[in-house]
Amino acid sequence: MNGASGMTLTAPDGQRFRFDAGTLCLEFLLAGAIEPGEPLHERLHEPGDLVAWIGRSRLEVEGDVVAGQGDLMAAGRLRGAVQHLAERAARGEAHDAVDLWVLNEAAAAPPPVPVIGDTLERGWSYPVTATQFLSAVARDAIELFSGPLVKRVRMCAGERCHLLFLDTSRPGTRRWCSMNRCGNRQKLRTRRS
Ligand SMILES: [Zn+2]
Repeated sequence: MNGASGMTLTAPDGQRFRFDAGTLCLEFLLAGAIEPGEPLHERLHEPGDLVAWIGRSRLEVEGDVVAGQGDLMAAGRLRGAVQHLAERAARGEAHDAVDLWVLNEAAAAPPPVPVIGDTLERGWSYPVTATQFLSAVARDAIELFSGPLVKRVRMCAGERCHLLFLDTSRPGTRRWCSMNRCGNRQKLRTRRS
């Protein structure tokens, strides 16, 4: 939706790097495990965490966001389903029907309502609710996993890096979460050996 998308992540060793998950539903996985190489690490402890996260997402939600305790559970469930589907897609494995059910449930709610401003900029009708946001994530996931781009879902080829992304490069040759992170480490390793 926007060109300069991506998030700045901090690795366990302190390195900060830009990571572009390529699409909203895979970006949402970062609300669980921002550090590459770490197992699922919860970022959403209270509704305020979800509100903050939504503000950082590629939907460019700049106004009020409303989230409650129940939304945290819904967010965790949806994120788990997307994670599961993406990992299986990246490995060429079959999907689990239970995960599809979670997507359908979240997508059934209305998504955020887009508005166009005086200077023709796209915004949203505020407040945006967490339910609306999760619907947008689920709808994005349905488009992804039901379409041809599912073949472009990849896990970073870096050692102990589990970041998942949609390879949107024209030739479809993206292997790394970031050239500045795993890409460089691989280059150094190849040079040393
Ligand atoms: Zn990586």
